[in-house]
Amino acid sequence: MAAITRLAKPSSSISYLRRCLSTSISSETNPLFSSRKDPKDRNVQWVFLGCPGVGKGTYASRLCNLLGVPHIATGDLVREELASSGPLSQQLSEIVNQGKLVSDQIIINLLSKRLEAGEAKGESGFILDGFPRTINQAEILEGVTDIDLVVNLKLQEDVLLEKCLGRRICSECGKNFNLASINVKGENGNPGISMAPLLPPAHCTGKLITRSDDTEAVVKERLRVYSEKSQPVEEFYRSRGKLLEFDLPGGIPQSWPKLLEALNLDDYEEKQSAAA
Ligand SMILES: [Zn+2]
Repeated sequence: MAAITRLAKPSSSISYLRRCLSTSISSETNPLFSSRKDPKDRNVQWVFLGCPGVGKGTYASRLCNLLGVPHIATGDLVREELASSGPLSQQLSEIVNQGKLVSDQIIINLLSKRLEAGEAKGESGFILDGFPRTINQAEILEGVTDIDLVVNLKLQEDVLLEKCLGRRICSECGKNFNLASINVKGENGNPGISMAPLLPPAHCTGKLITRSDDTEAVVKERLRVYSEKSQPVEEFYRSRGKLLEFDLPGGIPQSWPKLLEALNLDDYEEKQSAAA
């Protein structure tokens, strides 16, 4: 049946998160924990993990549309704060201009501000994208709210590399394309993977450029750094029985139905429009 539709009720656990984080970063037990909502009375609280280039944002955002929850990407929160005249924007622009990493504290401040604003609008549940990135962040999150499920999207490295190297941007309209046509044959019991390219329309064809950091060496280094940093976070959730490993079988047409199946969801609207 249809996607989960639950009544949007303000979640007091989120305002607790805000209070807790604005005073101290602590995951100690606290009497206010009783304010955690029964999962039956709220929407999903999920986390999406996955290395750069895997399409995590795309899948998270599609699921958010299906489930009626906000898609909260910490990268967007940082960009929005930078573009605003908010209290953190100046501090953030200094950090970013110096090429430094944004600290856990700042990310958490931005996230709690976002959750609080959502709560005020009557949002229930969320899918977090790009957070938590460290054990410290995962512990803080675990200390103040219940994460139901952590979906770890995976794609084999050679495919990922090929996909990253196939990325192009139109220098005129700024749209993203991908020239990589992936067709890996299944072997040793592993299923094959096929991903169609995302080709530009004729008026963009002669204007494609490659991002300077989409070289093989840079992409490989990015993947290595990601895997080194993400492994402890994956292990954190695995040991709590919350990690769902999902190997992408291909592009969106192949992966989306399989992902829904793995999550016990059904895209009711898509089926209706397909039947129409
Ligand atoms: Zn164009």
